[in-house]
Order: sequence, then C-alpha cells, then structure tokens
Amino acid sequence: MRTPAGKECSYFYGDYYRGRQVEECRLLKDAGLSWTSRLCQTCPVPEIQFANSCEHQQLIPELKRPIFFLRPEVSITAYCTKSNQEVKEPRIGCGQCHPDLPQFVITPNDPDSAD
Ligand code: SF4
Repeated sequence: MRTPAGKECSYFYGDYYRGRQVEECRLLKDAGLSWTSRLCQTCPVPEIQFANSCEHQQLIPELKRPIFFLRPEVSITAYCTKSNQEVKEPRIGCGQCHPDLPQFVITPNDPDSAD
C-alpha cells in the first residue's frame, strides 16, 4: 500500500472506506513503537523492500534521533532467519540464497580455448 510519503510499503495500512481515516504502520506497531505519518518520509523500508524481497529477511525497526535535537527517524536492522545471522546491508541481503556468480575459468583442455 502507498504510504503518506507516496512510496509503496507492505507494512503500511490505510482504511479510508466510507469516510474512515485509519492509518498505521504494522512494522512499528508490532515492535511496540508509536507511528506518525511523518516517519514515512525518511523511512528506509520502502527502498529495502524494492531492492530485496527475500522472504527470510526480518526487519527490526527502532526510532533514533540522527542528532540529539532532531526528530526521531526509523532505523532498520535486519536478520536472516535462514542463515541465522544479522544482515549488514538489508538492500542486498545476507548472500546465502543469492551468492555471487562463480568465476569462469578457461582451462587448456577446454574445447573453446584458443590453441
Ligand atoms: S514508517 Fe516505514 S515501515 Fe512504517 S509504513 Fe512508513 S515507510 Fe512503511
């Protein structure tokens, strides 16, 4: 669903049916954090979901102030339930399901190698 900031986020829920005006972030709600629509403006979750849709990656939100006098923003850490490790870069993933391609090596016995 599209957030008030105009980005797609699977955790956003809005109910506007028949004049209702219910909006919530289910990621922050499940973590016991309070949400306001302002938080969607700087939240990294839509970009993470756009770049990486791994079903094993869990996103763990926190509200942090970038500088002590600024308003809190959503900060995300990620955990992979398949490899049981913290994911350093949630946009990329832990790398277990989608490892880098193996390097191709042409040996002297390869029929395609030049003689
Ligand atoms: S705060 Fe982040 S996770 Fe929550 S609805 Fe907004 S964009 Fe989605």
